[in-house]
Amino acid sequence: KKQRKLGLTSVILIALALGIVCGVIFHYLIPAGTMRDDIFVNGIFYVVGQGFIRLMQMLVVPLVFCSIVCGAASIGDTKTLGTIGVKTLIFYLCTTALAITVALCMGNLLNPGLGVDMSSILVSDTSSLDKAQSNNQTVADTLLSIIPKNPVNALASGDMLAVIFFALFVGIIISIMGRKVETVHRFFEQFNDIMMKMTSIVMYVAPIGVFCLLSRTFANVGFEAFMPMVKYMLGVLLALAVQCLVVYMIMLWLLARVSPIMFLKKFFPVMAFAFSTATSNATIPLNMETLERKMGVDRRISSFTIPLGATINMDGTSIMQGVAIVFTAQLFGVPLGPVEYATVIATATLASIGTAGVPSVGLITLSMVFNSVGLPLEGIALIMGIDRILDMTRTAVNITGDAVCTTVVAKQAGRINMDVYNDPDAGKDVD
Ligand code: ASP
Repeated sequence: KKQRKLGLTSVILIALALGIVCGVIFHYLIPAGTMRDDIFVNGIFYVVGQGFIRLMQMLVVPLVFCSIVCGAASIGDTKTLGTIGVKTLIFYLCTTALAITVALCMGNLLNPGLGVDMSSILVSDTSSLDKAQSNNQTVADTLLSIIPKNPVNALASGDMLAVIFFALFVGIIISIMGRKVETVHRFFEQFNDIMMKMTSIVMYVAPIGVFCLLSRTFANVGFEAFMPMVKYMLGVLLALAVQCLVVYMIMLWLLARVSPIMFLKKFFPVMAFAFSTATSNATIPLNMETLERKMGVDRRISSFTIPLGATINMDGTSIMQGVAIVFTAQLFGVPLGPVEYATVIATATLASIGTAGVPSVGLITLSMVFNSVGLPLEGIALIMGIDRILDMTRTAVNITGDAVCTTVVAKQAGRINMDVYNDPDAGKDVD
């Protein structure tokens, strides 16, 4: 299975390279005119590329809805953990909000999209640009709109904050009612499985979509489009490093009073595993085992916090989304003000809850963050081709965030064996 995934990555990378080459040839060697533009640039490339974007959009509402219902419903398995549960949730939300803030700062520091104007490749989405420009809703209105007047309407129109609010509510009630609503719980779990399968099938056509989207972009803008992508990648990697090596280490030191160096040394194999699979879900067992055997964390805590974290706490993913927002806004000349930044922090925190712990889902939930501030989805096309390597890196950060929060919560609740934590040889057999 792993081989198949790696195969897909290489194919997407090849599609990316071919798309760039093809686009550049069109841009520099074939004179603009009806054949180039009508048949290819605005014909095949446009239709196939947009078709692919629509496929991704199609996944968002059901995927996020089911994933959140299931995540919230699973809290019920550990009712005894009451306060620990609430504390963990607060930590998860705060670290995610912090991660996006780091990413937005990094984006504004590096300015990956400045100096290039890509608005010429927009055909479909000028309406969303207008929306962004006339977006003068007050903060109070934005907050109020989280509560849907009609949840079916919210689902139908893809109003994500409202969808998430309703999904969380449904999930929590499922967890409170427990066995009485077992059938509905199972239904959502199975529907969730269906959506994950659909996602992986859509990812199989990604290479074709990426090729067409990039060909069209480069045919229109030429080599100018290249530097911004490299800068974007650098921005994401730097922000991930800050979150992992600065934010988490300070948290461990200040909030748990444990050695951050020891944590990193013992946790590194889990990060390497997450990096190579790009799947938080697959890392759950190794993560719990490492926390218990190498760090002395009580399994009763980690068995709740780690699976929950793998489902709802995606700090690395929201970092990618934060940098992607700044990048795309700059490329397409969409101004972002304080209200937009606040909206991005809120939506990306919620998107992180709705991101399933499997490869590439972060790209799909990114479209909902884009929508919240009216950015054109064409921006996703540019970053899709180079996303796998960032997916691997951000997944390592995602699961590190879960483990750091778990360690802090366990330490504060007195449920960690410090002798084990401080013993460099503890649990050596785990890897
Ligand atoms: N691959 C990520 C994870 O499993 C999710 C994503 O950002 O796509 O944590």
